[in-house]
Amino acid sequence: MKLLEQLVLTPGVPGREHRVRKLIQSQVKGLFDEVRTDALGSLICVRKARPKPRSGGGSPSKKKPLRVMLAAHMDQIGFMVRHIDDNGFLRVNAVGGFDTRNLFARLVSVCPDVNDPKKDLPGVMNPGGKPVHIASPEDRKKVPELEDLAIDLGLPAAQVKKKVKLGDMVVLQAPFQKVGQTVVSQCMDNRIACWVVIEAIKKLAKAKHHSCEVHCVFTVQEEVGLRGAGTAAYGIEPDVGVAIDTTLCCDTPGVPSELRVTEQGQGAALTVMDGASIADLSLLEEFESVAKKSKTPHQRSILPRGGTDAGAVQRAAAGARTFTLSCPTRYIHTVTEMVHQTDLNACRDLLAAYLAQA
Ligand SMILES: [Zn+2]
Repeated sequence: MKLLEQLVLTPGVPGREHRVRKLIQSQVKGLFDEVRTDALGSLICVRKARPKPRSGGGSPSKKKPLRVMLAAHMDQIGFMVRHIDDNGFLRVNAVGGFDTRNLFARLVSVCPDVNDPKKDLPGVMNPGGKPVHIASPEDRKKVPELEDLAIDLGLPAAQVKKKVKLGDMVVLQAPFQKVGQTVVSQCMDNRIACWVVIEAIKKLAKAKHHSCEVHCVFTVQEEVGLRGAGTAAYGIEPDVGVAIDTTLCCDTPGVPSELRVTEQGQGAALTVMDGASIADLSLLEEFESVAKKSKTPHQRSILPRGGTDAGAVQRAAAGARTFTLSCPTRYIHTVTEMVHQTDLNACRDLLAAYLAQA
């Protein structure tokens, strides 16, 4: 869990994934034959096939290995500084979709240097307007728009203007915490997938032999429209693309059961379709059969709206068979994203088992 904690506490909004990329690079040493960063910033790590020697001692099969691209996005929803006013308050532009109902009274970090965490500035984000004691009854009912929110760094305006510039990354601040049988934090979407990919490859590496060639892509700018996955897939031209991501888990009060998408603790979610892609049927069935054989808890799911990197990989170049392996996540796109440890481990185990036989 130490690695997951490091991953969720490292800020990286779309276009500012530098620190996350550096952390992942430091964690994958020895697992891959080739590691490179593409023009958009996606980290591409290639593990070549390690075929079994033929029985009877012949040389391994010369058959071209299946090229599998895994896509786990590194970016998180966040903000960029849009304006610094004369009193030193910051206004922000969202990068990724926020529900502003979750943006009251938040601690934030403003990151003026994308490579240097020591220069990060703590701040608070609040809607402008009067406190509840003196607000009118109508004002109290209003949900603020993003334009109403301002960041206070607790510093004189001159100092703010010296330290902060337009375009600086801003992220919400929240701890990583074990809660019952779950782990809770900000940006479990999608650092859990980065964790799942790294841990699945560690498992695969222990098994020594596998027939497929794995291209693990830690993609950029997913939250603003699956941008990094598309260009990476165009270069790789995979036979099979597997996106690993979070999905809705609305088995919570106030949501009818037909809208829950997944159930917490019931295992890895095999996504039949979402707003960006329909899973290749043979891949979906292959994942399901591997899950059954390896006795890994799993559930099918359909996400009516929203999509994953699979949507971009499927349609890059001449196209690929794609599938999304999802981890059920309650309270998605808040700083209290909650993931059951059974589901997290099931995603890791199923991905490793799939790759071992692909
Ligand atoms: Zn995501």
